[in-house]
Amino acid sequence: MDLAYTAAEEEFRARLRDWLADALPTLPPPPPAGDWPARRAYDSDWQRRLYDAGYGNVHRDASPTLRLIFLEETEKAGAPYVGANFVGLLHAGPTIAAEGTPEQRERWLGPILRGEAIWCQGFSEPEAGSDLASLRTKAVRDGDAYVVTGQKIWTSHAEVADWCELLVRTDPGAPRHRGITWLAMPMDAPGVTVRPLRTLAGSAEFAEVFLDEVRVPAANRVGEENDGWRVTMVTLSFERGTAFAGEVVACRRTLDEVAARARANGRWDDPVLRRGLGRLHAEFTALWRLVQWNVSEAAAIGGVPGTGGSVFKLRYSQARQELYDAAAEVLGPGALDLSVPWTRERLSSLSYTIAAGTSQIQRNILAERVLGLPKGR
Ligand SMILES: Cc1cc2nc3c(=O)[nH]c(=O)nc-3n(C[C@H](O)[C@H](O)[C@H](O)COP(=O)(O)OP(=O)(O)OC[C@H]3O[C@@H](n4cnc5c(N)ncnc54)[C@H](O)[C@@H]3O)c2cc1C
Repeated sequence: MDLAYTAAEEEFRARLRDWLADALPTLPPPPPAGDWPARRAYDSDWQRRLYDAGYGNVHRDASPTLRLIFLEETEKAGAPYVGANFVGLLHAGPTIAAEGTPEQRERWLGPILRGEAIWCQGFSEPEAGSDLASLRTKAVRDGDAYVVTGQKIWTSHAEVADWCELLVRTDPGAPRHRGITWLAMPMDAPGVTVRPLRTLAGSAEFAEVFLDEVRVPAANRVGEENDGWRVTMVTLSFERGTAFAGEVVACRRTLDEVAARARANGRWDDPVLRRGLGRLHAEFTALWRLVQWNVSEAAAIGGVPGTGGSVFKLRYSQARQELYDAAAEVLGPGALDLSVPWTRERLSSLSYTIAAGTSQIQRNILAERVLGLPKGR
């Protein structure tokens, strides 16, 4: 990737900056963190504005450089986060773009890009998290539909989602990885029950999803029957490789704010704190370079990120926790107040080393696929 920007890329940046400067002041105030229906409406409205301005499909259609410029400029300007659109825009949509039929792309991608359809991810089960291939939700073919029964857990945004990227077992007799199928399930289908789970930070951002003989049309299958594990690897490589990219820019901004606060309240005199903030600055700069590398590598190898995603996920999730630990040190006793945004972010940062595959699992992937070490039991 050539890191020198062309005149056309600089023009894209300038146009985007101008548009953000006009658009952001017209946004309504963001809704309360725990009000998911209101957050859905807010996030969908923002996605619709991006779409109308020609930026709705940047994550998919633009060149890697334009995508990175988009992430940099939107984060720097403090534009809303993808929020409830995370799954649709950043991993279900890209999976459908890579693996779906032309009809499926036509049917599902437009509504995602226009902010009309929210997606959630039904992968994890009570007995299948890290060991995802042991999932047991079963789907039995009945005419032109699959009849799905089972339970999913930790399904983010399930309460407000229209669609679910769902993993089911279609061949219980086959070796574990070979009997799985990837389906798009409408969340309003009869037999779907969503029970929200409250987190440490007080918000019900994810849920248990119970499936009782839910009929999912066979036309909603992405990829072949029993080839869902391969499709899942595509989804996870988007989720780990590029989905968190924009957050790195936001972390760099937060780090600057933490340093400014430390200068203002006297904590800056502490050399240990200063050294920690300096190290984090270097860390986030390196992570942004890794994002650039991952995005351009994905473009070069046909659009799907490689194992660089696991390197990024492993280090980014830890650096984010260290950032908010440093913020808490600067805040002092004020860090105990849950109404302080940095405090809420600190609590939610604990989940980053678990969600999308734990740090231990990323290390296993790197050990086996990059270093060629023997497989763990
Ligand atoms: C905020 C958040 C949002 C999430 N959103 C979703 C979602 O929308 N959809 C969805 O499907 N899932 C979601 N998840 C679930 C997430 O994918 C799982 O929590 C994760 O894969 C870990 O699975 P588990 O919780 O069952 O833990 P377990 O797999 O039971 O792991 C427990 C511990 O054992 C360790 N461990 C397990 N196996 C190994 C091994 N082979 N080697 C070394 N250590 C090991 C793990 O690293 C972990 O520390 C979300 C999780 C979080 C925290």
